[in-house]
Amino acid sequence: MPTELRDYDIIVAGGGLAGMIVASSAAHYSRQSLKILVVDRNPSPQLGKKTISGWVCGDAVGKNSVDYMTSRIGIKWQSPEIEHPVKGVIAYSPDHETSISFDGEGYILNRKVLPQKQLDDALSAGIEIRYNLALRNVIFDDNRVIGLLGQDLETKSVFKKTCKIVIDCTGVTSVLRTNLPIRSYIQRKINRDDLEATGRYIYNFENGVDDNTYFDPNYCLIHLDQDIAPGGYAWVFPKGKNKVNIGLGVQQKSMEVHNKKHGLHKDLKTKIDDYVMMNPVIKNPHIAEGESDDGNSWGTWQVSVRRQNDCLVANGYMLVGDSAWMPKPLDAGGIGPAIIAATIAGKDAVQSIQANDYSEESLWQYNLDFVDAYGYKTAGLEIFRRLLQKLSNDQINYGMKHFLSKLDIDNITNGEHPEFGMLGKLNMFIHGALNKTLAEDLKHTAEVNKKLVNHFRNYPTKPNDFSDWQNRLTKYMSDAYIKLGCA
Ligand SMILES: Cc1cc2nc3c(=O)[nH]c(=O)nc-3n(C[C@H](O)[C@H](O)[C@H](O)COP(=O)(O)OP(=O)(O)OC[C@H]3O[C@@H](n4cnc5c(N)ncnc54)[C@H](O)[C@@H]3O)c2cc1C
Repeated sequence: MPTELRDYDIIVAGGGLAGMIVASSAAHYSRQSLKILVVDRNPSPQLGKKTISGWVCGDAVGKNSVDYMTSRIGIKWQSPEIEHPVKGVIAYSPDHETSISFDGEGYILNRKVLPQKQLDDALSAGIEIRYNLALRNVIFDDNRVIGLLGQDLETKSVFKKTCKIVIDCTGVTSVLRTNLPIRSYIQRKINRDDLEATGRYIYNFENGVDDNTYFDPNYCLIHLDQDIAPGGYAWVFPKGKNKVNIGLGVQQKSMEVHNKKHGLHKDLKTKIDDYVMMNPVIKNPHIAEGESDDGNSWGTWQVSVRRQNDCLVANGYMLVGDSAWMPKPLDAGGIGPAIIAATIAGKDAVQSIQANDYSEESLWQYNLDFVDAYGYKTAGLEIFRRLLQKLSNDQINYGMKHFLSKLDIDNITNGEHPEFGMLGKLNMFIHGALNKTLAEDLKHTAEVNKKLVNHFRNYPTKPNDFSDWQNRLTKYMSDAYIKLGCA
């Protein structure tokens, strides 16, 4: 089909956090000259809702990511979509004896309110929105994506629209990516062990004892503990002095091992309920109510914790946000990378449209730009995460107390892999064979991370060179997993 006959320049699939930003970014960079449509399966007041149980999220984002978007495309977030400011994140060891403070200033968002603000921004930028449409597949022709197919959930009629570029922002379960029918380097499926099952409550509560290792109105608290959250972590994020987002994420495999070891039959919900019960500050928790919380105070959903998809583009098609597995492997924070990627993807899509070329080769710039801004570090963090998931609480206690230098914490604060530079000097003072092995493993992750960052800094500039590059990446990763015993 000739491109001039297509219904839209860009169709953004999914009007969630990433989808609304990418649409605004494309409108910004094209000076509102393009025909842009956003399609979401929810009705307008529920735009961006991830699942029937709501806009399930920990709601925390670093100020630096929001500033990244504001300074480039002029989108500003403030109250009420920002519900509460925080000064940083504090992670506690299982014994609560060691804490590391990182990540700097940030915000706790209201994910139900935010899409309505995003909707206002989009409408005033001339973006068209269609609601209640469940997308089922891309339309393709001659190995190119040229549109989207779906169903209107109210009228049951068929939705069929063509465009120059589809930007897939339909989240982690994207059927468009899984069933992508054209030849492409995009990875379709994710390994089950790279998904975390997560859930959270939004509660109002009365103050119990005063203990800011369990609740701090100024800090997001993370509790690392393999009994509380096997293969993941638990969080207490303040939404006010007496309001909290509290939940946890687990790796299913680690959870099964944990249950077996202790003769338990716990599931994610009972783990979260146990975690709330053991918190001495949170007394008489009750589900947050009111227009900004109704329908969003309890829910579970999945988050990916691997590196982003090795390739983010195909002919006429781009992936942004959770559909591209962008959440940070270490903490499952996906809002920051989604903001960065969406801002970049809007710019790169516009450049391709202005060049009248929507091929994989033309859209490839987005791979390069995302890797340069964020994606260069995620493979190393994926390896680090797999190592952390197999540690015992004793090892985490010991490692957090003895192995982290100020430089390592600065690295973590900047979202980078720690270097563990002091471990070489410490060797003879380390107690216990397991801790010595841990020190060796941590040093190894830091070394592999350097190689991986360097490898990503040499991301192929053309699709033709991708397969060789990916083969080397896969070899780096699998060698590291074998050496660390996480294969
Ligand atoms: C419990 C939990 C806690 C988390 N905590 C944090 C945190 O504290 N900080 C952080 O940074 N990240 C966190 N994350 C991750 C973060 O929520 C995501 O990274 C972020 O929401 C990604 O945005 P997205 O727009 O890519 O996808 P989504 O928010 O999933 O949006 C996808 C949109 O597409 C729509 N859609 C999906 N399929 C279709 C279809 N077939 N047709 C039409 N529309 C469709 C959906 O309805 C939705 O509107 C957490 C995630 C979970 C589950």
